[in-house]
Amino acid sequence: MVITMKTIILVRYEEIFLKGLNKPAFEAKLIKNMKHVLNGLGLVSITKSQSRIYVEPEDEDYPVDEAIRRLTKVFGIASVSPVHKIETNFETISEKAVEMTKGIMSRSGYRTFKVETKRANKKFPLNSMEVSRELGAVLLRNIPRLKVDVNEPDFIVHVEIRDYTYIYSEIVPGVKGLPVCSNGKATLLLSGGIDSPVAGWMVAKRGVKIEGVHFYSYPYTSEKAKEKVIRLGKILAEYNLGMKLYIVPFTEIQMAINQKCPEEYLTIIMRRFMMKIAERIAEKNGSLGLVTGEAIGQVASQTLESLLVTDSAVTLPVYRPCIGMDKSEVVDISKRIGTYETSILPYEDCCTVFVAKHPVTKPKLQKTIEYESVLNIEELVQKAIDGTEVMEIE
Ligand code: ATP
Ligand code: MG
Repeated sequence: MVITMKTIILVRYEEIFLKGLNKPAFEAKLIKNMKHVLNGLGLVSITKSQSRIYVEPEDEDYPVDEAIRRLTKVFGIASVSPVHKIETNFETISEKAVEMTKGIMSRSGYRTFKVETKRANKKFPLNSMEVSRELGAVLLRNIPRLKVDVNEPDFIVHVEIRDYTYIYSEIVPGVKGLPVCSNGKATLLLSGGIDSPVAGWMVAKRGVKIEGVHFYSYPYTSEKAKEKVIRLGKILAEYNLGMKLYIVPFTEIQMAINQKCPEEYLTIIMRRFMMKIAERIAEKNGSLGLVTGEAIGQVASQTLESLLVTDSAVTLPVYRPCIGMDKSEVVDISKRIGTYETSILPYEDCCTVFVAKHPVTKPKLQKTIEYESVLNIEELVQKAIDGTEVMEIE
């Protein structure tokens, strides 16, 4: 007998359940974001039923694996399964389960299994216990090396009996979080390092659309350093559904600080300029906060004293999701989200071009303001903003 029906994608979500009356709005946003990432892969119908979302391709040769790769980067999705959608009758279920189980065993070498059944369709003559038992027996009869292990099986054959029946084994974890654009916009100070892409990702995970601002000091930092940041922007854009990236010329500001301010205050004054410029850009774009990759004590400019002086340059809130993390913890996340390999490329950042031998670790706000007041701050800030290049990463 030929089994009709096809592979579809089952999408599960979690935190959206807690949204009470706002749940439909979050679900709608999630579906919109799913459509955005699946765009171009082929025609699908996307339906929501009983707090799950089904993606049903129209064509047999739809690239399900690529669709799953993209969906597992969509914030809000807890997990995804490729699922066989078949007619609800025991014979068809048995045939498909045998075929699927043989496939799993030959691909993975797994030997032990159990069947888990959910029966939402109460018209089906067997209850869920009976389906699991009978289907388990069919599988054992048809597949010689297979064994049951109800406690720690190598794999589970999931069967969900609804109007149609859905059968699957694989559950691919998603990134969780909340759908991007469900929680406003924030501006990420994006360097070429490891921390700031992770920081941006963590804020985007909570439903915030991120825009990036990068400061570069040509010719002290090379074209390659800028390309690296654009590459990081592209990786983040896959999660963030695109990203606007502002590239700000910073050489003149750094030269001015270098010439006119005490060496040990160089970095902290430079950080205040970065914050001021990022805040201007943020305010112009309706962005409600700044995001940086700073962690307490990581370097001289990240002590509590330095962070206080940095924050005093702006009024927008500054979000620092890496604040309590060790470097190794940030590295783990960067590997998981795919930014690590790019972040460690050896191109210089403007922060590393002009550095003091002994940067101040406990800067005083009053002194900092006094030192920087010899500069024409407003003019320098405005000039940098006027020279800013804007890129729209798809
Ligand atoms: P990262 O790994 O993110 O570069 P870091 O530990 O090297 O962080 P710093 O160089 O002190 O730290 O920078 C602290 C934060 O300032 C960065 O996380 C980033 O948010 C911001 N920042 C630093 N350099 C730049 C830059 N060239 N453009 C934009 N933001 C920057
Ligand atoms: Mg850096």
